[in-house]
Amino acid sequence: MLNIDQIKQLIRTNILSLTPYSTARDEYKGDLGIFLDANESPYQNGYNRYPDPRQEALKKRLIEIKGIEIDRIFLGNGSDEAIDLIFRIFCNPGRDEVVSISPSYGMYEVCSKINDVQLRFFELDEDFSFDPQQLLRFVSQNTKVIFLCSPNNPSGNTLGRDKIKAVIEGFKGIVVVDEAYVDFSDEPSLVDLISQYPNLIILQTLSKAYAMAGLRLGLALSNREIIQRMSMVKYPYNINSASQALVLDLLRDPIDEKVELIKKERQRVSAELLKLPFVIKIYPSQANFILVKFDQAQKYYDLLIQKGIIVRNRSHVKGCFNCLRITIGLKEENDALLAALREI
Ligand SMILES: *Cc1c(COP(=O)(O)O)cnc(C)c1O
Repeated sequence: MLNIDQIKQLIRTNILSLTPYSTARDEYKGDLGIFLDANESPYQNGYNRYPDPRQEALKKRLIEIKGIEIDRIFLGNGSDEAIDLIFRIFCNPGRDEVVSISPSYGMYEVCSKINDVQLRFFELDEDFSFDPQQLLRFVSQNTKVIFLCSPNNPSGNTLGRDKIKAVIEGFKGIVVVDEAYVDFSDEPSLVDLISQYPNLIILQTLSKAYAMAGLRLGLALSNREIIQRMSMVKYPYNINSASQALVLDLLRDPIDEKVELIKKERQRVSAELLKLPFVIKIYPSQANFILVKFDQAQKYYDLLIQKGIIVRNRSHVKGCFNCLRITIGLKEENDALLAALREI
C-alpha cells in the first residue's frame, strides 16, 4: 500500500513545481466592498462578477451529502474534466501509460490520446467480471493509473468492493474508481475508503441520478494532496456562476424517489424484453441502463431509429457484440420502446 510521500512521487515534476494562477479575489475574502480588482464590468446583471474559483458554498453542501471533509472534494466541469486532470497530473506524455478495463467508458481512451499517454485495455471476462490478481499482473512499470468503472458503463455490473480493494492494495500507482452510476446501485460507494487508501480517487457526477447533465458538474473524491493538485491545475473558473447557483438550488430536491422508480422500471423493462424471441440476453445492471444482447442488434437499432427511439449501439464494441445499451426512461418512454420492439 502507498503512503502520501509515494503519491507525491507519482506526480509529474512540472506539476509538483507549479505555482498556480492566483485569482484577483484570492487575497480578499469578504462579499461587501467596492471591487476594482478584477477588471469586471461594474454593471450588475447577476453575472458581471467572476465565479467563486473555490466553489465554497457548493462544496459545503456536497460534502454534507457525501459525508466527507472539505479538503477531500474537487469539483470539475463534468467528471470528464477530472479524468483529463488525472492524466495531466500523473502521466508524462510519450512515456507513462494507463490501464483501463474493457469494455468501459470511452473518455479514458479519448483523454489518453489527447494527452499522448498510452492506454492498455485489460479485457473483462465474458460476464464483465475480473480477477484482480490478473489485472495486477497486467500492469507494467510505466503504468501510473488504473481506471475502473463500477457500476461499469456499458455493461451495468459492479466490479465488487473486495476485488477493487485488492487492486488498490496491490497497485503502486493511482486507482480511479468511476462511480457515475453508484446512486442506482445496491452496492455502496467506495467513498469510505478514501481516508484509508491515499492512491484512491473516486469519481462521481451530478449528470445521471441527480438529473443535471446540462449543468456539467463532476466530483473527484480523494485525499488532500491529490485534491490540492487537481485544484491547482484546473482552470481557475472552471465552474461558472450559473452552474454553481443552479446546482445548489436543485440539490434541494431529493433524488431517492426518482432513483427507486428507475430501478423498478429497470426490472420491469428487463423482464418484458426477455419475453421477445429475438432478445438473447440481458446483463444484470446496477445502473440506469441495461445492456441487451439481440440476435441482430444492428437491425433492431435501425428499426428503433425509424420509430424515433434512439438507443446506444454497442454491437461493434469488443465484448458487446450484438448488444444495444438502453437507458431507462420514464414509464411511458419505456412502454414506447417495448411497443416498438413488440411490433417487429
Ligand atoms: C456518464 C458518465 C460520466 C459522467 O460524465 P460527466 O462529465 O460528469 O457528465 C462519467 N463516467 C462514466 C462512466 C459515465 O458513463
